[in-house]
Amino acid sequence: MRLSRMIKIGGFDNVESVMIGGGGASEPVIQTMWKDSLMPVDIPQAILRINRLKMMGCRLLRFAVPDLEAATVVGELAGSVSMPLVADIHFDYKIALRCLDFPIAKIRLNPGNIPLRSQVKKILSKATSREIPIRIGINAGSLPVDLRKKVDSRILSVADALVQTAERELALFQEFDFQNVVVSIKASSVSETIKANRLMAERSDVPLHLGVTEAGPLIAGVVRNTIALYDLLQDGIGDTIRVSLSDTMEHEVIAGREILNAVGRTQQGVTIISCPRCGRYSFDTHAFIEKWLPALYALQKPLHIAIMGCTVNGPGEARHADLGITGAGSKVLLFRQGEVIRTLDAKDADKAFAEALGIE
Ligand code: SF4
Repeated sequence: MRLSRMIKIGGFDNVESVMIGGGGASEPVIQTMWKDSLMPVDIPQAILRINRLKMMGCRLLRFAVPDLEAATVVGELAGSVSMPLVADIHFDYKIALRCLDFPIAKIRLNPGNIPLRSQVKKILSKATSREIPIRIGINAGSLPVDLRKKVDSRILSVADALVQTAERELALFQEFDFQNVVVSIKASSVSETIKANRLMAERSDVPLHLGVTEAGPLIAGVVRNTIALYDLLQDGIGDTIRVSLSDTMEHEVIAGREILNAVGRTQQGVTIISCPRCGRYSFDTHAFIEKWLPALYALQKPLHIAIMGCTVNGPGEARHADLGITGAGSKVLLFRQGEVIRTLDAKDADKAFAEALGIE
């Protein structure tokens, strides 16, 4: 297990404290990124959604902050929720300085695209005074020109160029005596992501944020991230993860949880067993799962839930689950710990399932 430096995010005002790093001492932190425009944003609805993401296991939420108005909106949100919020900033150091006026818990930037060293210094100085960590985000799509040329001429691999870029940025932070830092090194290639993060893990104790960037739509993105993250996490590399998908934040969080579950790096939450559905089904598992997925992942209990389409495998699987539901001819059966507790019409399934889970 790699023993990375530990850093604290949040822990002030209303913002809860999240620790990143420390290798096996702490579970990798799941994060996602807000995907909607902030101009305008329905603040009460946004707060509800952020709180739901937290219930599902998301512990950090990043916002793109393209201008000073967006900084104010994210600042207002940061003062209204307990999950630490992260401001993602490019090009304009004044936006970073403005974000640091609010209870925003972390800044993500690429120092290479902040034009002047003096501007980076101003950000680091203010972040130091407020004890706010910064993530240096390195992406294969935005390598420095000299390293990009070496990659194009095959003098350097993408992985080596990514690590060299990260080391340049870290050296700049070091010059200004700033240690409160996390690094991400991302490529859209699974193999380059794995290679670059292994290399970085060997050469530094900086906490690493893992993910495959621009990983694609739901299925492709989950597959690519799973391959890359499973491999690295198995080797104890990775302190926080984001499964980047062209899909919802909720699906990014669920994918992150499933990857951490698979690698044994998280406390077990809900485990869903469900049939793929076929022509024999009498209970529509697809529709039921789609409706229930966020609520099930928000349960803070290590429950096994079975959702099955018909009597071929349904009662067998449902009997082994803490709670199971299955189609049975024109009826739906609800099981708890192997016992049928209710026989229902399909139209009553949601209400009965919610009651069995003890939720509204
Ligand atoms: S449980 Fe029934 S509906 Fe589901 S896949 Fe098996 S046979 Fe098909």
